[in-house]
Amino acid sequence: MSCIFCKIVAGEIPSTAIYQDDRVYAFADIGPKAPTHILVVPREHIASISEAGEGHRNLLGHLLFTAAQIARDKGLHGGYRVVINNGSDGGQTVDHLHLHLLGGRALAWPPG
Ligand code: 5GP
Ligand code: ZN
Repeated sequence: MSCIFCKIVAGEIPSTAIYQDDRVYAFADIGPKAPTHILVVPREHIASISEAGEGHRNLLGHLLFTAAQIARDKGLHGGYRVVINNGSDGGQTVDHLHLHLLGGRALAWPPG
């Protein structure tokens, strides 16, 4: 399998684990864009949010809830942002669905 995040989930590529359970894995982004930059991914390979199907509704909720839980654990009391890039115009560079959890500084709006 050639997907880089599937390899990270499988432990074939090292990563800094932040949280894991039977459905999701969260790890530190290799190129952090904020003091806290964590990626939350499903263990199952889903290429993008636009590829998620009806059967993924609960998993999508679990991914979001996990991001909020991690933010709480990390003490991001000042706020944070959860981002999903989708497709080339959306800036997606890795084709395995992932949520970015960004925090630890004031974030500009709108994104570029
Ligand atoms: P995207 O641009 O697809 O929304 O986000 C991909 C993210 O994955 C980027 O923020 C990038 O820094 C991160 N990333 C890419 N390759 C690796 C890797 O091998 N390990 C980790 N920890 N993060 C990665
Ligand atoms: Zn994958």
